[in-house]
Amino acid sequence: MTTPVSSSGFFISFEGGDGAGKSTQIELLAEALRQTGREVVITREPGGSPGGEAIRKLLLEGDANKWSPISEALLMYAARADHLERTIEPALKRGAVVITDRFADSTMAYQGLAGDLGEKAVTTLYQLVVAARGPDLTIILDLPVEEGLKRSGATGDAEQRFESKGAAYQEKVRQAFLEIARREPERCAVVSAKDGIADVAGRIREVIQTRFPQLLSR
Ligand code: ADP
Ligand code: MG
Repeated sequence: MTTPVSSSGFFISFEGGDGAGKSTQIELLAEALRQTGREVVITREPGGSPGGEAIRKLLLEGDANKWSPISEALLMYAARADHLERTIEPALKRGAVVITDRFADSTMAYQGLAGDLGEKAVTTLYQLVVAARGPDLTIILDLPVEEGLKRSGATGDAEQRFESKGAAYQEKVRQAFLEIARREPERCAVVSAKDGIADVAGRIREVIQTRFPQLLSR
């Protein structure tokens, strides 16, 4: 939390269910940060590096039950290790702000707390791969499940494997993100994603203004 913003980069993750508005809000925040003259790198998980993107395809397409819980988590973490090494760490070293669309909290929520793997295994993988290299700030966009499914259903892409797991699972995922935020209130901020795009963007800006005001000043 003591990262000096100007000299060593800053790492932000966005989390939340599908359709919560992560991609939309990341673009808006990146634009606001670029206006201060900062380099901003937008990236995503699973993916974010050539190896990570190859693994993304294995994870997000196909049948809902195509991977066992442990295989799924190991693939997520294989992608994450590559993403950290090849994309995130080099950018932070240059002094950039890195904004990632999903990170380790998604594995804890989807596979650990809401899925069948359990949190102990996910914590072990986290400690092995991420440890002290995690985000400085995590924005959790919170939205009722039906709203999110309505919004993301409108995009009609091929990457529907997790959406296809059903509403009860998605509700567990939503609660899991809220639980993660309760456990780590210093790193995480829950932002309601229910209102219009500009309102949500304003709330995210307020979180940053309050916690890391130096990020939004020149
Ligand atoms: P995510 O990346 O979390 O899945 P997106 O940013 O892709 O979510 O948003 C999903 C869909 O919902 C997009 O069509 C987007 O334009 C729309 N959307 C995003 N934010 C809002 C909002 N606050 N109100 C209504 N629609 C929204
Ligand atoms: Mg998205």
